[in-house]
This record gives sequence, C-alpha cells and structure tokens, in this order.
Amino acid sequence: MTLGSRPTGSVSVDVAIVGAGPYGLSLAAHLGACGVEHRIFGEPMGAWKANMPPGMLLKSYPWATNLSDAESASTIKKFCAERAQPYHDELTPLPIERFLEYAEAFRALHAPHVERKLLATLQPGPDGFHARFSDGETIVARRVVVAVGLQAFRRLPQEAAQLPVEMRSHSGDYGPLDALDGKEVVVVGSGSSATDLAAMLSERGVSVSLVARAAHLDFAARPRTRTLLERTAAPTSGIGQGWTIGACARYPQLIRLLPEDRRVQIANGKAWGPVGSAFARDRVVGKVPLWLGRNLRKIGTQGDQVVLDLTDQVGASHALRCDHVIFATGYSIDANRLDFLDHKILSQMRLVEKSPTLSSQYETSVPGLHFIGPAAANSFGPVCRFVYGAQHAARQLARHLSGEIRRHPTPTNVQPHYSPVIP
Ligand SMILES: Cc1cc2nc3c(=O)[nH]c(=O)nc-3n(C[C@H](O)[C@H](O)[C@H](O)COP(=O)(O)OP(=O)(O)OC[C@H]3O[C@@H](n4cnc5c(N)ncnc54)[C@H](O)[C@@H]3O)c2cc1C
Repeated sequence: MTLGSRPTGSVSVDVAIVGAGPYGLSLAAHLGACGVEHRIFGEPMGAWKANMPPGMLLKSYPWATNLSDAESASTIKKFCAERAQPYHDELTPLPIERFLEYAEAFRALHAPHVERKLLATLQPGPDGFHARFSDGETIVARRVVVAVGLQAFRRLPQEAAQLPVEMRSHSGDYGPLDALDGKEVVVVGSGSSATDLAAMLSERGVSVSLVARAAHLDFAARPRTRTLLERTAAPTSGIGQGWTIGACARYPQLIRLLPEDRRVQIANGKAWGPVGSAFARDRVVGKVPLWLGRNLRKIGTQGDQVVLDLTDQVGASHALRCDHVIFATGYSIDANRLDFLDHKILSQMRLVEKSPTLSSQYETSVPGLHFIGPAAANSFGPVCRFVYGAQHAARQLARHLSGEIRRHPTPTNVQPHYSPVIP
C-alpha cells in the first residue's frame, strides 16, 4: 500500500479507532508505542475545527490540555517552547488556534496514518465488527474503540423545534461566526459555550442578548498564584480546584467502583457546569444585555423575526425579538443517537441513562466494543469530558488491548492491515 492510496475490499485490523480528536489521537499514540496494529478514522480534531469558534480561549489549564503519548513527551509546553510561543501552565489561557497547531504536530508525530473518513455502519459478525465507511470501504475489526466526542449528542429544548431551521441553531454549529454578522441574535444558556459566544458576537459588533434560567451567571475564578493555604484547602487538579474534583481527575478508575446512582450523580454534578470561563466575565458582564432568571415560556415567529416569550421569577412576562436564536443548551449522551450503531449492537449494549456502561477497560457489554471520551463519563466520571481524561483512557486501554492481542493473536490466515493513509 503506497502513501495516499485507498485500500479497497474487506480487510482485517486488530483495532479500529473511530474518531481523531484528543482521545482517538492519544489512543493511537499509545497503541503505536505498544506495536498494536490499528487504524484510526475521522477528521483530525474535527470538532475543534468545525464546531468551536476561532478566537475561543480554552477553559482548561494549559498544563492539563496535553494530548497523551506513551512517554508523556509531546506536551503543549514543549511545543510552545520550541516555537518561542507564549505559554504559562495556569495563568494565561490557551487560544484554540495554538491548541490546534499543537494537536496537528502531535498527529504528524504519533498518528500520521489518520484516515479522513466517517464510519457509516458498524455491525457484529462472526470474525469481528464489520465497519463500513463513508467512501464505501468495509473492514473487519476485532476490536472497535468509539471516540466520537460530543457533536452527535447536541441537546435542543423542545421549543426549538417550533422554529424554522434558518432561525435557530445550536452552539455546536459554529465554527466561524460570519453567518451571524448583521443579525440580531439571542443566545439561550448560561454555561461557557453561551457566554463565550455572547462575548465573541458582541466583540464583532453583532447585536446579541443572553437569556438564561439561572438568576446569575457563574464564572470560573480568574487564574492567579494561590497561597499554600489556599492550595491545601482546595488543591488544583486537571479539571478544577477542590478535593472532590481532584479525586475525580486523578482516580477515574475509583469513580467506576462507586454505586451506579452515585457515579451518574458525580458525572452530571452541579460542580461541572454551567460555568462560564474565567476570561469571559469581563467580556460579557456590562457588555451584553442579560435576561437572567427567565423561563422560555413560548417561542414563535412574527414575520422575519423570532419572538421569545419570557417569564421572570414572579411570573411577569416579556417578549424578546430577534432574527436568530442560538441554543447553547449543551450535550446529552445517548448511544441511540450514534446512527452507525447497528440495532443488534444497541440491543446488546447495557446503558445507564442512555450512556454505555463500561468495564474497567472502557469496554461495553458488547465484547470488543469500547467507548472513550465524554460518552464514558457515567462510568469514569467528569474527567472524561475534558482533554485531561485522554491520558487515563489511552494508557489504560492501550495496555489492555496490547495484552489481549498478545494472548489471542490474529489467526495467521487473516492478514492484518495497517495503512499509513492521508488522503
Ligand atoms: C465549546 C466547547 C469548548 C470546550 N473547551 C474545552 C477546554 O477548554 N478544555 C477541555 O479539556 N475540554 C473542552 N471541551 C470538551 C472537549 O471538546 C472534549 O473534552 C474533547 O474534545 C473530547 O475529545 P474526543 O476525542 O472524545 O472528541 P472530539 O474532540 O469531539 O473528536 C471527535 C472525533 O470523532 C470524529 N467522528 C465523529 N463521528 C465520526 C464517525 N461517524 N466516524 C469517524 N469519525 C467520527 C470526528 O471527526 C473527530 O475526529 C470543550 C467542548 C466544547 C463543546
């Protein structure tokens, strides 16, 4: 197979990684280091390029936003130092552009074989999973790791369905914001996507207001050098400050051992959102009209405009008009929404609150099918919703898969296929 060529027909591979975001790329790096045959599919950092606006500042600490390789050598800090780019572990935020440049360098070094195509269908077969891709290729994979991130799981309130599609969107639809120039926009939500979008739209001169059920907006504290006492009372971890958050960040395998209802509660706990990023506060408060403590009672259209019927906490109503509503209403994991999963797989897969229940090896109740990334949060806790969680998932799963493959090698009459393809 030469560089750039496309394999055709049915081929076999030990591990297929579906998704080339931080989790998929990290796993590919670890599998490569263990010598495990694998292929990885998806648009490299696709969600970060297409579904997050240029100019966005990352909310995670730069030191906690590394993709993971076996030596823990390819860090953002090293990347920035080699290019004389500004970097601080905690005090200055990482712009998305720099993070993407870093991820591209990581991909080129550790996962140059990413194949830019999407999984269309995944079916169980006697010899493994039959995976068909958007270009028509079908492969047989003995194990499949799903690392498709959040975008399939956008949550829209029921009211949104009452609007024509050109008058409403989800925060995950942006990318560049040019399409909103010249419009009057309302953003619904109070988390970091809502406040980031409101800030960025207001700064580019778009008339934007923000509507939220919450009576006030919470923002993360601005990073600063903390005293020893402060650090002892609330230690810093890869996903925030505090003892509980710290335990979730450091010991995801222990979260999995908790009773199911406690795990789900922790995964969806109030502490993890909706919270605006520290750097959005000054760009939103006093700059963007805020309609807080408001419930969206009804939504409809009048001529070319959307009319949002809001009620406040004492029941008084107010009609807000705009050209376009962005629902920054988050994501809700639901395995049934992964349309590549065959119904046989779905019927076998044990779900808790629509998320797959996972073993200590991130394996679903369908043997050989693994999930990593945000879809693993109900089992391994909130760290899975952050890039930081890629390290545990990639390290743990690579160790497991390489052991399994050593114990049960591919039968010699089946040729594994490893393809260094970038179309
Ligand atoms: C607006 C926003 C801001 C965020 N900011 C931060 C932050 O500052 N710090 C942080 O730690 N986390 C942040 N997050 C969370 C972060 O996005 C996730 O933690 C992380 O991206 C999850 O990585 P992933 O690899 O699981 O998925 P993703 O990064 O979403 O990547 C998904 C991959 O799957 C591929 N894919 C999807 N469907 C298919 C298919 N059918 N076939 C093949 N491939 C497919 C895509 O092409 C892509 O390569 C943010 C999220 C959002 C929405």
